[in-house]
Amino acid sequence: MQQKKTSAELLAIAKKHLYSNYKPAPIVLARGQGSSLFDVEGRRFLDFAAGVAVCSLGHAHPKLASAIAEQAGRLMHASNYFFNEENILLADELCERTGLSRALFCNSGTEANEAMFKLVRRHFYAKGDKRSRIIAFHNSFHGRTMGALAMTGTPKYREGFGRIEGITHVTYGDLDAVAAEMKDDVAAVIVEAVQGEGGAIPAPPGFLEGLRALCNHHGALLVFDEVQTGMGRLGRWFGYQRSESFAGVRPDAISLAKGLGGGFPIGAMLTTEELAAALPPGTHGSTFGGNPLACVAARTVLRVIEEENIVAAVKRKGQLLSTMLAEVARDLPTVCEGERGEGLLRALILKQGFVARDILPKLVEAGVLVLAGGERGLRMAPPLIVTEAELEEGVTIVRNVLATLAARST
Ligand SMILES: *Cc1c(COP(=O)(O)O)cnc(C)c1O
Repeated sequence: MQQKKTSAELLAIAKKHLYSNYKPAPIVLARGQGSSLFDVEGRRFLDFAAGVAVCSLGHAHPKLASAIAEQAGRLMHASNYFFNEENILLADELCERTGLSRALFCNSGTEANEAMFKLVRRHFYAKGDKRSRIIAFHNSFHGRTMGALAMTGTPKYREGFGRIEGITHVTYGDLDAVAAEMKDDVAAVIVEAVQGEGGAIPAPPGFLEGLRALCNHHGALLVFDEVQTGMGRLGRWFGYQRSESFAGVRPDAISLAKGLGGGFPIGAMLTTEELAAALPPGTHGSTFGGNPLACVAARTVLRVIEEENIVAAVKRKGQLLSTMLAEVARDLPTVCEGERGEGLLRALILKQGFVARDILPKLVEAGVLVLAGGERGLRMAPPLIVTEAELEEGVTIVRNVLATLAARST
């Protein structure tokens, strides 16, 4: 048998042969269990990143792992030129959960948003209506393919890739700014219920309702990017919901990915019946989209979230995390400004002058994996199954690391 390579050996190969479009922390992960990850030498890290809000059931969840293994032994892929059972049943279950009526499957968040971009434009095209402008928000994140990227509200991500016409960015939370741009050429507004990558920034009260009213008034569509906020992350099933029921702001379409497959790649766009004919055969597709392996993963995630009452628990644990982070911010006022977020998508906000990205390596070294959110947000999106004890353990590590910075800055 070949000798297992060490972290140092693997990192040397990575440095030589991995494309450097990311700057990963210098650890090589090999295994996970619940909210813990282990590197190739067996060193443990507490996971407050969950693969960027993806691994909702934690790592190596036995029900998810066995569902995927069993499906792999039955049927992995067959294409969309034939129906498959898992795909049909997942569409049914997601429509039942959302009150929407059509599901289109793909493989990632950017693909789901790319589909939504094409959906809203082609909907009006098919009606002979010339409107095509899309209003999106500064500081938003919608993905890296050209349509999704054009809607993304961070200019430096778009730089150098050419322009896609007809997208207007306005300030998140500012209804007057949206109203000022709401002319008869607007096809849709795309919004996140909480800006995730932007730094766990919740929509201000009344903002989403106001968008709905403006869109109704001007005949535009309102679509939600629920890639990060969906599937229970906020302590409710989806961000557009304001309560346990479907009540809330009715979307014309939503995009899902990240937590949908619990770690297995899958994306989805869900639409109302009114939009069912906007993308007829030949206008959009995906070879891998909706394959039975990905769909069985998503169906298992849905079932486990339901069976184990995970959404209500997220709400409770989110409040606990919020309280603990607020205490850290209060105790370390030279480093922290406060905390924000909803459910288990939260950020500890650093003082002006600190850069979240620069602090992440210190946190990794101390044993907790955290994300950046915006320039100054330490974003935390642990698995939805994280325990209260693990939340305390992680926040304590963060507190200790930040305390050393506080000591240095005084
Ligand atoms: C991560 C993310 C995306 C992009 O998803 P990918 O699967 O990386 O393509 C899009 N929108 C939001 C809100 C996200 O958080």
